[in-house]
Amino acid sequence: MKIVRMKDGVDARTAGMRCDRCNAEARLHGDISGLWDFQEFLCVDFTAGYGAKAFADGIHYSCELCENCVKDLLGSYLRSDFSGWRYLFHPTHRGKNPRHD
Ligand SMILES: [Zn+2]
Repeated sequence: MKIVRMKDGVDARTAGMRCDRCNAEARLHGDISGLWDFQEFLCVDFTAGYGAKAFADGIHYSCELCENCVKDLLGSYLRSDFSGWRYLFHPTHRGKNPRHD
């Protein structure tokens, strides 16, 4: 689940994550390892559609899972490749910060 920080009882923002399976927490504020753990959470969020057989029609489902639980639950089904590195090593982006250039 998302850990939210309330401000004046109204304004909320995500301050961290808690794994819905093992209760591992990752906080955005604190040491850098919390940020690394936070960004590795898998957030599942969907509404079952008309005719769904495994889930109830029209019901919203969500959960957050830490990377260890994702690996335990889905690891044998996940395909992997190096496509996430493609952008960083593309010749036109080498040496540039992809978020700011
Ligand atoms: Zn977990």
